[in-house]
Amino acid sequence: MNKFPKSAYVHIPFCHRRCFYCDFAVIPLGNNVDTLKGFGSKTVKEYLHFLFKEILSIKHKSTLSTIYIGGGTPSILHPKQIKELIDLFRENYGIDYGAEITMEVDPASFNQDDLNGFINAGINRFSLGVQSFNNQILQKSGRRHLREDAEKSCSWLKKAYISDLIKSWSLDLIQNLPLSGFKEWQEDLKKAIMFSPPHISIYDLNIENGTVFKKLDNLGELQFPSDEEAIRNTESTHLILKSSGYSRYEISNYCLPGHQSRHNKVYWKGLGWWSFGQGSTSSPWGEKLTRPRVSGEYKEWVIKQYKQNLDSTLTNENFAYKELDEKIMLGLRLKEGLDIHKVFKEQNWENNKLDSNFSKLIEEWEKFLESGLLVRKGNRFFLSDPKGMELSNQILISMFKWWDEIN
Ligand code: SF4
Repeated sequence: MNKFPKSAYVHIPFCHRRCFYCDFAVIPLGNNVDTLKGFGSKTVKEYLHFLFKEILSIKHKSTLSTIYIGGGTPSILHPKQIKELIDLFRENYGIDYGAEITMEVDPASFNQDDLNGFINAGINRFSLGVQSFNNQILQKSGRRHLREDAEKSCSWLKKAYISDLIKSWSLDLIQNLPLSGFKEWQEDLKKAIMFSPPHISIYDLNIENGTVFKKLDNLGELQFPSDEEAIRNTESTHLILKSSGYSRYEISNYCLPGHQSRHNKVYWKGLGWWSFGQGSTSSPWGEKLTRPRVSGEYKEWVIKQYKQNLDSTLTNENFAYKELDEKIMLGLRLKEGLDIHKVFKEQNWENNKLDSNFSKLIEEWEKFLESGLLVRKGNRFFLSDPKGMELSNQILISMFKWWDEIN
């Protein structure tokens, strides 16, 4: 069996401007983003040059069964640039028959012709960042698109899916954005379902340091749904999606049968993946390596890999091992949870230590097992749905406490 990763993530950092809640490694291109001065600019060309160099730097290339082009806003790129990227993988790594090739698209940065171009380039799954269909909420969040753009994009993707031109697509929404009370959230959910996306991601808003939202929040200028509304929003998400045939296979992800994201499951299950581009994190066999988030430093890093003849994802002094607490956290996000004993065994602890650490964790989790938030079947533990998934933070905090205490 090929032991090398079969999944690759590629980070395209360009955006029109930074949305008010976003703290990703992005490069805002401004108003020229859709013109040759945007995707054809020196900034973009140079980035792609270094990105392609990094992709080629791996010595032990392995045939891929999932590729995920994320960002930023990859749909800012011209379909020809996306084709070059996929061809690079095809020619140098190989792509399995039936591989899942996903690209994130933003309603403001592509049209029907671009979509056809991306499909011809080899993309067979799209993830559309709608976030909300409400213009007031979109504007308050610093999004560039309007409801009309989102509706058009959904219709194009729905048509492409029904015509068998793509295998799947995901519609992504953010829950509890400012101004998104119970009524607005119901409207967003119902609108989303009208387009019958095979996959829906529902992300909870996090206020990150350094974002416009953080500043406005500190000034008390953001009008969030009340706690009561936020709870009702979350409960209604579960009810509405479930009654429409969607199953929740991960805390933030719902799908119709057969449409789980194969690529994301690689992360959650702790399997290995390559990763390319500034700010991205690879983890070929448990070790994690995060590339510099700033363009200049990323380019220097790629040059250094070549100078030192390093296989950038295999050997690097900056690697850090993925810790057990992170493995448990990711595993618990999945509907099927994880076999705690199995991941404990990977730690190579002596039997006494393994048993004692296991008992201490069960002690921490006793109250969650009793209240039914956490369920145990043999050594497999999983969150109950919806209550356990909604209150997952409490269970994870107790697990992190256990981890700190045993280290
Ligand atoms: S489009 Fe996405 S990546 Fe770009 S700034 Fe907005 S949230 Fe961040």
